[in-house]
Amino acid sequence: QVVPVNGGKVVVRETQDESSTWPINVDGIDQEVVDKMVYDALVWSSIHGLVVGDRSVQRSSTVPGVGLVHAPFALLPMPFPATQLNQANELAPIFNELVDRVSLDAKFLQDSLSRTKKADPFTSRLLDIHAKMLEINKKEEIRLGLHRSDYMLDEQTKLLLQIEMNTISSSFAGLSGLVGKLHRSLLSNYGEFLGLDSKRIPDNAAVSQFSMALARAWTEYNNPRAVVLFVVQAEERNMYDQHWLSTTLKEKYPLLFSIYCIKKFVCYGTLISICPCETEDNKYKSFCIGFIETSKIDAEAELLPDGTLVMGGQVIGIVYFRAGYTPNDYPSEAEWRARLLMEQSSAIKCPSISYHLVGTKKVQQELAKPNVLERFLDDKEDIAKLRKCFAGLWSLDDSDIVKKAIEKPELFVMKPQREGGGNNIYGNDVRETLIKLQKEGSEAEAAYILMQRLFPAVSTTFLMREGICYKDDTISELGVYGAYLRNNEKVILNDQCGYLMRTKVSSSDEGGVAAGFAVLDSLYLT
Ligand code: ADP
Ligand code: MG
Ligand code: MG
Repeated sequence: QVVPVNGGKVVVRETQDESSTWPINVDGIDQEVVDKMVYDALVWSSIHGLVVGDRSVQRSSTVPGVGLVHAPFALLPMPFPATQLNQANELAPIFNELVDRVSLDAKFLQDSLSRTKKADPFTSRLLDIHAKMLEINKKEEIRLGLHRSDYMLDEQTKLLLQIEMNTISSSFAGLSGLVGKLHRSLLSNYGEFLGLDSKRIPDNAAVSQFSMALARAWTEYNNPRAVVLFVVQAEERNMYDQHWLSTTLKEKYPLLFSIYCIKKFVCYGTLISICPCETEDNKYKSFCIGFIETSKIDAEAELLPDGTLVMGGQVIGIVYFRAGYTPNDYPSEAEWRARLLMEQSSAIKCPSISYHLVGTKKVQQELAKPNVLERFLDDKEDIAKLRKCFAGLWSLDDSDIVKKAIEKPELFVMKPQREGGGNNIYGNDVRETLIKLQKEGSEAEAAYILMQRLFPAVSTTFLMREGICYKDDTISELGVYGAYLRNNEKVILNDQCGYLMRTKVSSSDEGGVAAGFAVLDSLYLT
């Protein structure tokens, strides 16, 4: 029995019975009831903003309010052990601290990624920015991290093992909490009938906690005229997730943002969302500096002698990146110049180039090596907790592992230094790619890491996509958000900030919701 959630802490009343039966049996639910729930869920998601841009509508990824469709979601919450949620929550502040410590060790970052640099031009460019910051001795005194650490519950070992740590553009803080609310609403109507208790769905305050972290960071920047800049992609079907965050920020901290409300930006208060797209009805065109045209960056962004970043006459206090994590975001030199300019400035970068690099797969793999965590953390218990959630991670210069992966590729995932889903290599492709790399005998292998493949328990679930309900065998991935804010020696925030549950068809290798592989879900604590 579980008493759900109290500021993120789950209280378990009795010891859990591992063998207790799965609480949700979708096969036992009458079709008529499923149909009713589907209808109610579609209405709920539409009227509560659990939405994304519809790919079949051309302008849906550029113009808000045009071509909305419900975000893909699971019809019912996913059973998940409270103990493991607690474990993941407990890990969040430790990972936050680790990211911060590692970010300060420039040599470790450069060394860890030195071979990758030769093999991967994208990582190389990021490292160049990092190296330039070292050259000019740039110090980030105020450091803001809005991270998400992702896990799978490995069925065989029953261990909660980390998939990856996201330090840039951690998505779905805006939408994930809505899914829990949707599921509670459904269970408050159908729960008794289904034998499910809506109170077992834990609270998920990700959006308010992330916006609070942004607001606290703004306060630390200590310039009442400063604005928060959202750097976004030109086309973004997941824009409502971002708007949930910026709108919550504005609504929860009205004084902060309305006192210096400038008429031109009245649409966003002083919170400007800078979008590189140019739509015919975009009134804020003149402020669309974004990532697209050099001329615009040069025209709109400048660095004052004291390091202040100014755009469109506005001082930028925080640069919050929801772009810049993929090579596609840098189609020309202009985008790299923009990134460099922002990095050089005194604005708080979320993330800074160092934080960004700490989130690479290669650094994840380096941190999992023996005695590396000890370089960064003092607390032995914290180190043990982190290590316990590390899956097997290897570099491709480990010939024994490469041999094993060629023999049994299904037990491994091969990962390049990329974010955003859809980039990993699985199954027979692992074998083929490894053999190819061996034959080439080049530096190219340093672009990848190998990871132990995790196998979570499979369960049958209803998945909702574009108004259609599918029943399928699925596995799930739990993400826990973490916010970290520090000003020099003072740690101002170091918290877990709610969760993201994603459920995907078990036959699909990849798991991105935006990439079209997974649906948003919530937890049903067992
Ligand atoms: P990205 O930064 O692109 O999200 P991830 O490392 O999270 O990269 O991998 C993308 C997806 O691939 C994950 O969401 C998960 O579904 C799947 N995946 C990644 N690593 C593993 C693994 N070790 N075992 C099983 N599936 C994995
Ligand atoms: Mg990632
Ligand atoms: Mg991921």
